[in-house]
Amino acid sequence: MIPFNIPPYIGTEPSYIQEAIANRKICGDGPFTKRCHTWLEERFGAQKALLTTSGTTALEMAAILSGLKAGDEVLLPSFTFSSTATAVVLTGATPVFVDVRPDTMNIDEQKLEAAITPRTRAIMAVHYAGVGCEMDTILDIAQRHGLTVIEDAAQGVMASYKGKALGTIGDLGCYSFHETKNYSMGEGGALLMRDEKYNEPAEILREKGTNRARFFRGQVDKYTWVDYGSSYLPSDLNAAYLWAQLCEADHINESRLAAWNTYDRAFRPLAEDTLNGKGRIEVPHVPAECVHNAHMYYLKLRDLADRTAFIAFMKERGISCVFHYVPLHSSPAGRKFGRFAGEDVYTTRESDRLVRLPMYYGMSEEDCTAVIDAAMAYLKK
Ligand SMILES: *Cc1c(COP(=O)(O)O)cnc(C)c1O
Repeated sequence: MIPFNIPPYIGTEPSYIQEAIANRKICGDGPFTKRCHTWLEERFGAQKALLTTSGTTALEMAAILSGLKAGDEVLLPSFTFSSTATAVVLTGATPVFVDVRPDTMNIDEQKLEAAITPRTRAIMAVHYAGVGCEMDTILDIAQRHGLTVIEDAAQGVMASYKGKALGTIGDLGCYSFHETKNYSMGEGGALLMRDEKYNEPAEILREKGTNRARFFRGQVDKYTWVDYGSSYLPSDLNAAYLWAQLCEADHINESRLAAWNTYDRAFRPLAEDTLNGKGRIEVPHVPAECVHNAHMYYLKLRDLADRTAFIAFMKERGISCVFHYVPLHSSPAGRKFGRFAGEDVYTTRESDRLVRLPMYYGMSEEDCTAVIDAAMAYLKK
């Protein structure tokens, strides 16, 4: 049996968790949380990073910090996880879905301007599969129209665009450390801020609306309720788990890239095999500006029927392959809360064809080969 995902585990997690327990400080913002903050800031060149309880809550914080309110509109892809859109809905603003580019499955930057109305306030750029969106174009459009840019870099930790870490390019960036992502703390995430103006509002929002962070720094002599807030800080136990993995981030990244490259060497020739002007499949496209993090390897088959048959064929051979996402604009909540701007040329068509292959830290060469052999048996039928 080859599972679709195995949550990353390095081996040093228990000793750091024991240390957190010995510290008698397992609530939020303990020593391990602080280490993770510094690591994220130094490694990715982020002005400020704060751990959160999930990628979803990082997105919620970003939406709130952007000052979104009822009547505002936010541009985002329909081909994404529900969390990208629910963060918008939480503020009362309307998610406006824009088509994706078929090559990267990222929001089509060429279709953004046509979707902008006097109510548009922000763009959410989802870096699908850890491959960066066309950020220079997106930032340029945002600047000309006075829009905030939020990066949903849940899948983009350790990936970059033009040398800049994903999550640090827009105004606010969101990471996920869920166990299905490249680095995990079970449930968790991080919010990255480019501008210092967000630092204090973010601390207040994350600490139940209080100025407790200032109090701990000795900047005020008592803390009090100063604004709206919630509890968005994870336990230091979870941060200790993550810390073990951040210490080994390059090793984890290299392991995933090795599996990704093994897949790519096998499958890319089938995409380039231009019988009748078309390959049997399509494989991921990584633009020259982007360095990806092997979050995902996917294939695009001919259509929905081809994909359904492929998944069943693989399952019979003990290999778990999965698809996602049901486009948000055609989901019950998407129809209720949002709308699609312009024409859905690629979102539905391409999402119907896409299948993800097993991919995890520590995936052996033999497992990769077993997946490749089974897939080839199907594709060459
Ligand atoms: C995983 C994911 C999220 C949500 O992250 P959680 O940590 O599971 O809350 C949001 N957006 C995208 C694109 C994701 O892949």
